[in-house]
Amino acid sequence: MAIEVLKCDITQLPVDAIVNAANSSLMGGGGVDGAIHRAAGPELKEYNRKLGGCPTGEARISPGFRLPAKWIIHTVGPVWHGGDRGEPELLRAAYRNSFKLARAHGVRSIAFPAISTGAYGYPKAAAARIAIDEMRRHEADFDRIVACVFSDADKALYERILAEQDAADA
Ligand code: ADP
Repeated sequence: MAIEVLKCDITQLPVDAIVNAANSSLMGGGGVDGAIHRAAGPELKEYNRKLGGCPTGEARISPGFRLPAKWIIHTVGPVWHGGDRGEPELLRAAYRNSFKLARAHGVRSIAFPAISTGAYGYPKAAAARIAIDEMRRHEADFDRIVACVFSDADKALYERILAEQDAADA
């Protein structure tokens, strides 16, 4: 299986689970989080209220409600403070804990946005390396892993990093 890089709106993807780059309240926000809450409908906020938040690096799961996806995995990536506050480990944990929850719920296809690289300010190339590395580590457990990007520049970045890793593996 190959990791797919798709430039699209993650809320439209017909996969078993989409991952949300949430904030720790799980009550919705801007960026991809806002788009997911709007598309899933108000039932999502109601449901998440009972989850009681999510610390950075961890993940929680909800139904997809009005989305094509059956599940939404909400994870909280780190805010970038310069890189010496555990940001790389926390970003890795966000991907890893999302995959763990997905497996526990029988998810076979999953799509991720570029966690932490919007409002949270994580440098895009460094974040993409961690994202792709974690996707590679979990490839064997899934039928489909989608890296859902939102700009041509991010699509080119992900494709370049995938190609670099392929070259390094060869
Ligand atoms: P964070 O707070 O974790 O930085 P953001 O939502 O601000 O999260 O940004 C994360 C990434 O999600 C950014 O690359 C942004 O361009 C992208 N994004 C925003 N809306 C969508 C969407 N509907 N589908 C996929 N990606 C999106």
